[in-house]
Amino acid sequence: MKKDEDFGEWYNDIVERANLSDKRYPIKGMNVWTPYGWRIMRQIDQFIREELDATDHDEVCFPLLIPETEFQKEKDHIKGFDAEVFWVTHAGLNELDVRMVMRPTSETAMYPMFALWVRSHTDLPLKTYQLVNTFRYETKMTRPFIRVREIHFFESHTCHVDYDDAERQVDEDFSILENLMDRLCLPYLLLKRTDWDKFPGAYYTVGIDTYMPNGRTLQLGSIHHYRDNFSKPYEIRYENAEGEWEYVHQTTYGMSERLVGAVVGVHGDDKGLVLPPDVAPFQVVIVPILKKEHYDEINKAAADLLSQLKKAGIRAHLDDRDDRPGSKFFDWEIKGVSLRLELGLHDIQNDVVTYARRDTGDKGSFPPTETVTSVTSILASIKADMRARATESMNSGIVIIDSMENIPESIVKFGWCGDEACGHALEERTELNILGTPRNDETFQGRCLVCSRETSTVAYAARTM
Ligand code: ZN
Repeated sequence: MKKDEDFGEWYNDIVERANLSDKRYPIKGMNVWTPYGWRIMRQIDQFIREELDATDHDEVCFPLLIPETEFQKEKDHIKGFDAEVFWVTHAGLNELDVRMVMRPTSETAMYPMFALWVRSHTDLPLKTYQLVNTFRYETKMTRPFIRVREIHFFESHTCHVDYDDAERQVDEDFSILENLMDRLCLPYLLLKRTDWDKFPGAYYTVGIDTYMPNGRTLQLGSIHHYRDNFSKPYEIRYENAEGEWEYVHQTTYGMSERLVGAVVGVHGDDKGLVLPPDVAPFQVVIVPILKKEHYDEINKAAADLLSQLKKAGIRAHLDDRDDRPGSKFFDWEIKGVSLRLELGLHDIQNDVVTYARRDTGDKGSFPPTETVTSVTSILASIKADMRARATESMNSGIVIIDSMENIPESIVKFGWCGDEACGHALEERTELNILGTPRNDETFQGRCLVCSRETSTVAYAARTM
């Protein structure tokens, strides 16, 4: 299967061949995490926990079920989710008086409790997060990690004394995001969504989008400022230093297992996965090239390499299966292991270890005494090069357009007067989704693509995955 011929088919094929997810579970869109896929997700979850713990967030775990009475307190929120939630209507043989929703996201589970937890300005900021599964009834075609009905999800929820303090939280979220995306070697755009596309109930939403090789964008997550839109219906108030009661300002930041989908789609090639070293279950695989009469000698040298790497904290695996080296190479290429080390009689006699990089295929060698320093530095180069290539690919996929005819298969930028009518007209005529306007200032001087009025606002649009 060729990536540049049929991206969708290639993607499904790679997920299956690398055994990342098993979609044969008898509920459509609820897939089974296989051991290899789950190791990658766990690694990402670990980075998320590290980043959030380091910024004084506390991990919590809220119930999966939300009573309908709480779920319906914020009007826009319920409108946005009504059609895509799963309902629990019975307990045992009895129909429930108050139906329950399986969380599509946790605002309506958490905020009744936040109203009890927050009393005084000394309780703020309240910074929490959880890693849980959420449920959404997807009606479009499902795709592993990208469009599923049970979603492995990270969400942080914070409460602040005022708008500005919540705004500082949004900035902190951006730096947490950058650290995470650096580990995944993924480029991304931060675009403030249009009013008609923001999160239901949010004051504003910044979408986090990456660029897939088929010219479409994939939304990886979003960061929201809620202002007091939720604290009013949920009565989350605090007593300020002057003894007056005020509503908190809130933010949320959410990302999902789509991060795994992006890693597969952005970095993989026709041979299989190409995993960023930081999330690869195995960063290094050692393949001994065994010769009968030197079997013990080669195996011992390979075991020695393995123990050096493991001691240094590098995730390494020795493939001592009774199989041909070529067939082992093939298997580990599908699995996307960052670096392969080969060790044969010839290498031992020359006092070298031969390596092959998964990302570029480049080969070389180093002395066995320098294994740890060499491997560490090669893995660092792989990480830097992978991110640079993906960034270059995204940047070259951003095209400025001044006409709605012959739109290229990529991300497009254009002048937009900001009127909703012009936005809708563009979406209808081009079948693109407006992703929004840059979160960071981007200077632009031109005319609205639809109405030709002069504008200094640039908007981005693309087809989405
Ligand atoms: Zn216009």
